[in-house]
Amino acid sequence: MQSVSSARFVTPPLTRRKQEVLKQLLDRFAASVNFCIWKCLEHKVTSRASLHRVAYEEWKSRFDLATHWFHSAGQVATQMLRSWRKLCRKGRADPSRPPRYEARTMRLELWGESSVSDICRFHGHAVQIRTRKDEHLWLPLIVTEHHEFRYLKDWREGKTRVGEITISTFKDRADIFVSFKREVEPKLVGGICGVGINERSVDLTVLKPSERPKHTSLDVSKLPAIRHASQLKRKSIQQKLDALPQRPVQKRRLWAKYWRRERNRTNQIMHVVSKRISEIAERERTAFAFEGIEKIRESMRSKRKSRNGKTLHKDMRRRLNQWPFRKLQFFVEYKVARQGLPTVEVSNYHKSKDCPVCGRYNRPNGHAHRCQTCGFEASRHLVTSWNLPCSDREENPAKDGARHVPADCWQMQRVAEGLVAPEKLSVEPEKNPVSDWCSLIRDFRTVVSARF
Ligand SMILES: [Zn+2]
Repeated sequence: MQSVSSARFVTPPLTRRKQEVLKQLLDRFAASVNFCIWKCLEHKVTSRASLHRVAYEEWKSRFDLATHWFHSAGQVATQMLRSWRKLCRKGRADPSRPPRYEARTMRLELWGESSVSDICRFHGHAVQIRTRKDEHLWLPLIVTEHHEFRYLKDWREGKTRVGEITISTFKDRADIFVSFKREVEPKLVGGICGVGINERSVDLTVLKPSERPKHTSLDVSKLPAIRHASQLKRKSIQQKLDALPQRPVQKRRLWAKYWRRERNRTNQIMHVVSKRISEIAERERTAFAFEGIEKIRESMRSKRKSRNGKTLHKDMRRRLNQWPFRKLQFFVEYKVARQGLPTVEVSNYHKSKDCPVCGRYNRPNGHAHRCQTCGFEASRHLVTSWNLPCSDREENPAKDGARHVPADCWQMQRVAEGLVAPEKLSVEPEKNPVSDWCSLIRDFRTVVSARF
């Protein structure tokens, strides 16, 4: 099992010569990727090996770069085509319009730590990029204590190794993302934990064979509050600076500032929340099941799917569009993977409607779930997190995404069979109020400042 975390490095301002070389490389990389996409479509090939067979000679004569650039560009091209074909199958992309690589970034592979023909090499304090034979571009890095403590220490000791390096430019500097891969021993899991990510709370239910289910609710209501406050701020900036005399440059600068502030504050809270979940993971040793929140963005747009045949109000659409549910899931996933515990995404079909005790399909209206057969009462969010791991209650488990479950990570069905019914017919989760979080964040800050 592998856990990947990536670090962002920034270079000091580059010399004019280096900026030019980097710009050329970015242009050539984009052109190479587009060339590879075109060749893949022309020869109807999908793998990198067959792409090499049909296109390498022509690429080499056209782009005067070291061979491994072709591998890196081919990797990006085949991945883009794969996701494009997937979207075409779902009817969300146009099959007559193949994708084009327009990003101003390049993703470069490292080919073995010791190989001489590396395209790119990470030295800790600098990144060395090989352009042609005996021609290299060196990009020095600003290494902070955070980098040193969090990534480089383990890398020097050989506990992690460097994967792909992604490079882009901003102003006169370069942004360099380095991924560090760590081999983790997979742990034996003793149960499964369903994680329901909601706008104002994250609900967890730990299910273990022959144990009562444990419920926890983490309060994240600060996140929508921060987003709403930033939204008002941006609105007022817009009103003030769009009035005559207009000041567009100042507006852009202020907007960028408040976007950045909002992102940093929400990321901070989400890191604390995901850390708390990873602590639960460490204590309980369970696998994690997430709700696959698919098509939520599309469903907001279409009139057909919403109630009353109307589209949602624009405030509601904004709220749901700004809801970073996938980001929180990503944070939890990598933190849990670091401990050697597996995660899986299952469909949310019927998850908040089926009764977790008797299995009856109810039609709850609002936040409360009341079962009409057995009288079970709980919050709907809690019911979702409880139902997530129990996919065998469905008639057709394949529909439920159970096929995505790695066969060796746990026996989902066995866990679900050995479940014990709850004590009472009304269940309340263990609550973690906002004030707790605030103190937690403060603690976290003091820890951070004490460390550096
Ligand atoms: Zn029931």
